[in-house]
This record gives sequence, C-alpha cells and structure tokens, in this order.
Amino acid sequence: MRLSRYFLPVLKETPSEAQIVSHRYMLRAGMIKQASAGIYSWLPMGFKVLRKLENIVHEEQAKAGHIAMLMPTLQSADLWRESGRYDGYGEEMLRMQDRHGRDMLFSPTAEEMFTDVFRSNVTSYKDLPLTLYQIQWKFRDEIRPRFGVMRGREFFMKDGYNFDLTKEDALHAYNRHLVSYLRTYERMGLQAIPMRADSGPIGGDYTHEFLVLADTGESEVFYDSEITDLTFGDREIDFDDKAQCQAVLEEFTSRYARTDETHDEAEFAKVPQDRQRTARGIEVGQIFYFGTQYSDAMGAVVQDGEGNKVPVHMGSHGIGVSRLLGAIIEASHDDKGIIWPEGVTPFHCGIVNLKSGDAEADAACEAIYKSLTALGLEPLYDDRSERAGAKFATMDLIGLPWRITVGPRGLKNGVVELTSRRTGESEELPPETAIERIA
Ligand code: ATP
Ligand code: MG
Ligand code: MG
Ligand code: MG
Repeated sequence: MRLSRYFLPVLKETPSEAQIVSHRYMLRAGMIKQASAGIYSWLPMGFKVLRKLENIVHEEQAKAGHIAMLMPTLQSADLWRESGRYDGYGEEMLRMQDRHGRDMLFSPTAEEMFTDVFRSNVTSYKDLPLTLYQIQWKFRDEIRPRFGVMRGREFFMKDGYNFDLTKEDALHAYNRHLVSYLRTYERMGLQAIPMRADSGPIGGDYTHEFLVLADTGESEVFYDSEITDLTFGDREIDFDDKAQCQAVLEEFTSRYARTDETHDEAEFAKVPQDRQRTARGIEVGQIFYFGTQYSDAMGAVVQDGEGNKVPVHMGSHGIGVSRLLGAIIEASHDDKGIIWPEGVTPFHCGIVNLKSGDAEADAACEAIYKSLTALGLEPLYDDRSERAGAKFATMDLIGLPWRITVGPRGLKNGVVELTSRRTGESEELPPETAIERIA
C-alpha cells in the first residue's frame, strides 16, 4: 500500500477524552472513530488488525474441530423468554420493537440462538460431539462504556457453544477451548493467563477467564508468579485426545491464579510469599461449562444409545476480539506509539522515502516495495512529500515491526537503513539483505 493512496487519518493532537494509552493510540493512529458512546467506526487500519485477529481465531478454532457459522444480531425476545433470561438480563440488553410490535433485541450473547438451531436439527447422540461458534457483533448497553474498544457497547466477539452427550464429553470440550485459546492469544503476541473465575448462580469450578496483565485492566488479580513462566509454544496437540487436553489444563491451572471475585486469602497464603503477586488484568476471554441449564429450559434433547431422550451438556466460550486490539496495545507500546507483534501487524514493514521526487530514491523504494510484495509481505510505503521527521513520527505511531529508510546519501553507498520498531536498533544494509531480514 502506498500511503499517498491509503486512508490513514492520523491525529496530531492527543484526544482529551482518551484516558488510557491504547485508546489514545487507536484514535491518533486513525484506527477508529467514535460514532456514539461505546460505538466505533473501524477505519481501514483498525479494520485490518481486527480482521487479522478474527482470522487467527478462526484458524485456531478449526484446528480444535469447532465449526464456524453466523447468527443474526437482532433476535426475537421469545427465545429469551423460553430460556427464562429475558426479564432477568437487565439494562445491558438493548430491546426494541419491530413495526408489528414484536419484541426484539440486539444479541448480547447467543446461548438461546445456538440451542435453538441445535434442537431443531439434532436428535441423536450419534451427531455428537458438536461445537458451533460465530464471530459476530454483540451489543451490551454498558452503564459506563470507556477505554475505547476495551469496554464498548457494540463489540466484536467470538462465541462458541458445545453440545455433548455426557458431562465428561462436555468437560473435554471445555479443555479443548482452553487449549486452543492459549495458542490463540500467544499467536497475537499476548500472555493471557487462565484464572479461576466466578461461575455465578450455577456453581462449580468450571469457568476460567483469560487475563492479560496490564495496569489499566479493570480486574484485580492474584497469582503465583510461576504461572507467568508458562508458555504454550508450538506443541502439537491432538484435540481428540482427552488425556492430552486435560494435561494442558492441569499444567496451566494448577497454580494459584484468581480474579478478585474468587480470590481466597487462605489459599493464596499457601503460595510461597516471594511468588505472591497482585496486579491488574484485562479479561480477553472466558470459558464455561454449565451443564443442562439451557437444554432443560429449551428442550435440547437427543436420543442416547439406549433410546432414552436426554438433555445435552453444554458450555459457552467467548473471546473479546475487538477488546483484544486494546489489550495488545496496552501490552505492547512505548511513548512514541504502538509496537505491533508480528502476528497481528497491519503491515509487515514501512518504507520511508527520505526524498520523494528524487529519481534514484523513488526507484529504490519501488524496487523494495515490489520485492517485499513478491514475498507475500505487505509493505506500507510512505511516498508522500512530507519531511522526514513527520514520516518517522507516523511510522513510530502506527508501530509496524520494521522500517526501511531510503535516501540518496545511503544509496550512493548501496545501502538502506533497517530499523526494528521494538528495539529501536538500526543497521545499514544493502536493500536485498534488509529484505531477507524481514522475510
Ligand atoms: P466484563 O467482565 O469485562 O464485563 P464479561 O464477563 O461481561 O466481560 P463475557 O460475557 O465473558 O464478558 O464475554 C466474553 C468476552 O467478551 C469477554 O471476556 C471480553 O473479552 C469481551 N467483552 C465483554 N464485554 C465487552 C465490552 N463491553 N466491550 C468489549 N469487549 C467485551
Ligand atoms: Mg460484562
Ligand atoms: Mg467478566
Ligand atoms: Mg466474562
């Protein structure tokens, strides 16, 4: 992409309404624009990163054997009356009527919709296990939308629902989600720690929230510092192997790690004192096993091996895709701007032409642009006739992992400058070598 033809409305001033760094940088880097409280327009670069996150989620869900589909955002209130949640859900639910006076709502989550699709189509245990999911806009009329996309009213969420014959199978689905989420967040350059969460009125131990540690997080968390040494890495997982998934769950959840909702001082005291940590965290996902709550209420039953009709065991599993943009920036930035992890960066490399209009510099930039593109990489070429300082400031703000700087002086010696956004280190290299480093 050539910057002269792109739409990147960078702001010079720091918007006063933005209280945290990710919100400030997303506004300044022209990624989002507020449409109304907690509702954002996704400008091209914000949209590009959002799509990258969405793709990572899809790829990792496919590996776990989960099946993508799409539900409407507007739902009939009747389904929610059936599950018993319509009246109780409260003010976070945006309710409306259509022209015929029928009660509708904008989906804040979709247990009812998925259970309805399931019960209309599946009648035998032979069709289980089944996990369906979507990545779709949700609406929650948050009392205090804030921090940009972190707590929006309209937000993009992956929500998945497993349907299983037995509790044991449903817990395997729970474990599969935990495993696939660990890899999902790591591919985004994040450490998200599974923490024991509050399962509310349903009870039981079967819910974990994934938290990214950050001072601006809204949750208070308590954990054993050993947990931050764990990484999932690129290990091979057979998602059908119950014991293997269970082992990963145990590895990642056996140490103390809880949010304030479930924190237990007596248990925490058993962690060696030098490893006790209190911090703040951003909730980027949650997994849940809730048994037959919805299948009982909505009649989602299958015939088991003996011909008995039994309610299916279910769970639901969410990832806050749009919130993740904020979380990634909170975890990866400096005072000049964003520092995108390689896996989610909107462009792989910036090219800064120090003297646009100079025939040699222009030609060199074009050649680098073509080579990078031929390698399947996406460069962002700043071909505008701005001063060098302004070009550097824009590149630093938008945080691409690499910058290649091209100017007449370097070209005389056959070199360009390759700069790492993360370390700030620069090297003078022949253009081919610079390209090899990035690829
Ligand atoms: P929170 O505690 O932050 O209100 P939640 O527990 O209500 O979140 P869930 O129902 O668990 O949210 O939804 C799954 C995921 O969706 C959350 O882990 C979070 O990452 C994301 N999410 C929830 N509410 C919002 C919101 N208002 N804006 C952006 N993302 C959200
Ligand atoms: Mg909430
Ligand atoms: Mg929560
Ligand atoms: Mg939650």
